[in-house]
Amino acid sequence: MAHDFDLYVIGAGSGGVRAARFAAGFGAKVAVAESRYLGGTCVNVGCVPKKLLVYGAHFAEDFEQASGFGWSLDEAQFDWPTLIANKDREINRLNGIYRNLLVNSGVTLHEGHAKIVDPHTVEINGERHTAKNILIATGGWPQIPEIPGHEHAISSNQAFFLKALPKRVLVVGGGYIAVEFAGIFHGLGAQTTLLYRGELFLRGFDGSVRKHLQEELTKRGMDLQFNADIERIDKQADGSLKVTLKDGRQLEADCVFYATGRRPMLDNLGLENTGVKLDKKGFVEVDDQYQTAEPSILALGDVIGRVQLTPVALAEGMAVARRLFKPEQYRPVDYKMIPTAVFSLPNIGTVGLTEEEARDAGHEVVIYESRFRPMKLTLTECQERTLMKLVVDAKTDKVLGCHMVGPEAGEIVQGLAIALKAGATKRDFDETIGVHPTAAEEFVTMRTPVAG
Ligand code: FAD
Ligand code: NDP
Repeated sequence: MAHDFDLYVIGAGSGGVRAARFAAGFGAKVAVAESRYLGGTCVNVGCVPKKLLVYGAHFAEDFEQASGFGWSLDEAQFDWPTLIANKDREINRLNGIYRNLLVNSGVTLHEGHAKIVDPHTVEINGERHTAKNILIATGGWPQIPEIPGHEHAISSNQAFFLKALPKRVLVVGGGYIAVEFAGIFHGLGAQTTLLYRGELFLRGFDGSVRKHLQEELTKRGMDLQFNADIERIDKQADGSLKVTLKDGRQLEADCVFYATGRRPMLDNLGLENTGVKLDKKGFVEVDDQYQTAEPSILALGDVIGRVQLTPVALAEGMAVARRLFKPEQYRPVDYKMIPTAVFSLPNIGTVGLTEEEARDAGHEVVIYESRFRPMKLTLTECQERTLMKLVVDAKTDKVLGCHMVGPEAGEIVQGLAIALKAGATKRDFDETIGVHPTAAEEFVTMRTPVAG
């Protein structure tokens, strides 16, 4: 049976755009539907605006440190509306680029909410389109627990558009978004509290990294409240928020920002008209080739809940396009050794196994760890320390994991990820000549293990 399209992609985010463009490039007839914003979460309310705000927040310490190098500045002033307006202009520019990318690669763009009405048909703006395959690339959405008063809290979606910088911010959660936004608010001058329900934030990251970041944020004056959870939020007459914790304590804030994970975006998608199944956590269940339980429907990116990172969605998009339209070039996505950064201030960069994961997996490990004051800070009052850590397999000498907390950790770890992917040993690290004077050279000069 002839269909209108070979592939109908729902969602023009990181994964959907990549799959659509590559499929069209391979000669397929492709349409993509987008209900909100071209480029999806990453471009509009994720990686890109977040990184711009992190850059903005970083200036505070640059100004502070400049005096050690002989600069004198009048008291620095920060204007939130300027930052937000400039950020919005850049995002508008990127939206235009995404539109051109799609149109120039021959993809038909449908702007509106798409609903699947049967395994080969999508309805959008009152019209029906048939396709041999449908790709669900609808991403995720912030999830706020329904405690009393949760309607007074905001999520990352709203944080990017606040009219003014709140004076007192309470950030709830201990994952990527909580730690990054706490750094943004704190850096820009808000009195910031980070509240996490567990013992120590960033569960799943290396223990030394978590502890080190805790120490650094405390040094910077951020209020960290662990083993704490909110029972209710009440709005007061003056517009401020009274937050009651489960242990009975009360805190006041002008903004309560929840970053407690993201759910798959499946609202009114019409999955009930298909055989698509969800996993235990509610994400779309797919096999290792992104095939759902419905033979004509595939899914990728945040909506499948594997690794919620843009480069992973991009890799999955490429894999789907190749699998469907260029099978001779198909290569499965390798989920091992995915490097990642948390753009907290200071940054975290990490690739490979944490010490805890390596030990749990039965590796006999040798640990190298270095903590030092970055050279840039030696002329300043700043007491910040950088952490670098290598997890090495004692038997094979292979480097299993690299972890860093410090300036530009994300930039540094990208190169290390190539080495780890290529199977580098500690000896390879030792025999690599350093780039001097840099912080990164410490990764090739650590000689004395701290633990075995
Ligand atoms: P998305 O990019 O979310 O795209 C899905 C698209 O589908 C959306 O545009 C949505 O409007 C559309 N859609 C949904 N339903 C429908 C429908 N029924 N009809 C039509 N369109 C629909 N990752 C990193 O790697 N680095 C970072 O620094 C980083 N920072 C982040 C910061 C924040 C605050 C957040 C929230 C996320 C961040 N991420 C980061 C994660 C990253 O943004 C996501 O992993 C990535 O965007 C997932 O891509 P996707 O294609 O699966 O979905
Ligand atoms: P995460 O899953 O990373 O973290 C969620 C946090 O909220 C955890 O600390 C979790 O605690 C806590 N939490 C969950 N439910 C509750 C609850 N009911 N009450 C209190 N606390 C709760 O989610 P994020 O929202 O931070 O980010 C979503 C994803 O987006 C990330 O996992 C990441 O993949 C991606 N992202 C990537 C970035 C990057 O690459 N730099 C930046 C931002 C996002 P616990 O640990 O105890 O479960």
